[in-house]
Amino acid sequence: ALVIDQIAAGEVVERPASVIKELVDNSLDAGATRVDVELEDGGMARISVRDNGRGIHPDDLLLAVTRHATSKLRHAADIADIVTLGFRGEALASVAAVARVDLRSRQPGAAVGVHLHGIPGEAPVLTPAGMPVGTQIDVHALFANLPARRKFMRAEATEVGHCSDTLLRLAIVHPGVHFTLRHGKRELLNLPRTTREGRVAQVLERRVGGPFFAFRGEDDGIRVEAFLPHPTAAARGRGSPYLITRQRVVRERSLAQILTQAYGLGGEAPSACLFVEPPSGAVDVNVHPQKAEVRFSEPQQVYAAVRRILAAAVAAAPW
Ligand code: ADP
Ligand code: MG
Repeated sequence: ALVIDQIAAGEVVERPASVIKELVDNSLDAGATRVDVELEDGGMARISVRDNGRGIHPDDLLLAVTRHATSKLRHAADIADIVTLGFRGEALASVAAVARVDLRSRQPGAAVGVHLHGIPGEAPVLTPAGMPVGTQIDVHALFANLPARRKFMRAEATEVGHCSDTLLRLAIVHPGVHFTLRHGKRELLNLPRTTREGRVAQVLERRVGGPFFAFRGEDDGIRVEAFLPHPTAAARGRGSPYLITRQRVVRERSLAQILTQAYGLGGEAPSACLFVEPPSGAVDVNVHPQKAEVRFSEPQQVYAAVRRILAAAVAAAPW
């Protein structure tokens, strides 16, 4: 069973940033309004995610680290309206298959929390834990049991960069949540709760180092909110635009290209932020949960509308 777990884990857990993605997704699913992430040695020594969400019931703790155990699908209809993509019940089990984990959780109303200590291939041990309401997961020595995988990790700074990018992508669609990221003694991110525009400012200004122009438009039933940095700033931070649809930062080559063209640039897309909302039913975001791909049912219609709205935005911009 352990080998099967490790193979499955390899698909979910690629590097520290993928652990963070899964753990923070869970915190957000649990209604957290504060999420604190800590890394040691680029996440290879330790990754901690602490939240103030609704916690895990003691009876469910063991189940939480078991493959295909999810609390998030109770009815078939849930599949249709599920907003979260963390519905497969594999993430925690996968992490626990490739690292030592300390999972602590306390629900509101419970006098104490419960601490699960897990070592890959061994039965987890449960003990009571004094702690605030919420959940804290510490992941120690990632891939210590998979030396071949551990060798694939890049320099510490590279892994930290991926972790930070992952957290920023989650933060930009959850402005009501306070996020922090620390690496050792250094605080890398501190994003207090704010509005959507406030959060875009926190994230974009960190990337491109300047203010942006906000523009809202609707065309052909497609709503677009564009946050566009000044062209010189936008040209500085290239390569990972924030393209958001249905509350998720997605990879969408054509949208990225349209953004690049709107700026009159070539090459990689500038670091701008674009919320694109086609009418309900016109988007399938479940194409690939890990790769954040999206499929519009009428892509050409979406692209045409975005092109027109961006042209209007650029024309209205103060620069
Ligand atoms: P999934 O999110 O797909 O259900 P996971 O393996 O990510 O599967 O998590 C398993 C279960 O553990 C979740 O369904 C949830 O009930 C519980 N869980 C995990 N992390 C948290 C958290 N931070 N707060 C509350 N519950 C959590
Ligand atoms: Mg999950």
